[in-house]
Amino acid sequence: MNAKPRKLITTTDIVIIVTIFLLSGLFGFLFMNPSGKTAVITVDGAEVRRIDLDTAADEVITLDTDPQVKIRVEDGTIRFIDAKCPTNACQHRGKLLAGGEVAACVPAGVVISITSDGGSSDIDAVVG
Ligand SMILES: [Zn+2]
Repeated sequence: MNAKPRKLITTTDIVIIVTIFLLSGLFGFLFMNPSGKTAVITVDGAEVRRIDLDTAADEVITLDTDPQVKIRVEDGTIRFIDAKCPTNACQHRGKLLAGGEVAACVPAGVVISITSDGGSSDIDAVVG
């Protein structure tokens, strides 16, 4: 009997532990994605405002477009309010709060989109 003393932690164990750490970090990044949301408002394709939703104070932004629209920033969300367009579909889109969400008021040429560090490419748009 001359069995080699068995190490408590083998190289294989270390590889498994490191892999689990890396995967959990990756999943945490993909699914939690708690910060870095930025709302970008454009009028006729030109950026007019960029708002960090994680730190933004509540406010109402009035855009001097035709028809005029207002945008409310509230509790880390953003949405159209008080739109003067015919269908009000932009208002019915409701609050945007996650990266990749988009709302547009086509008559006014206003688009709100939310970008996030997670880089979601899901586009969920309603126009009107
Ligand atoms: Zn509209």
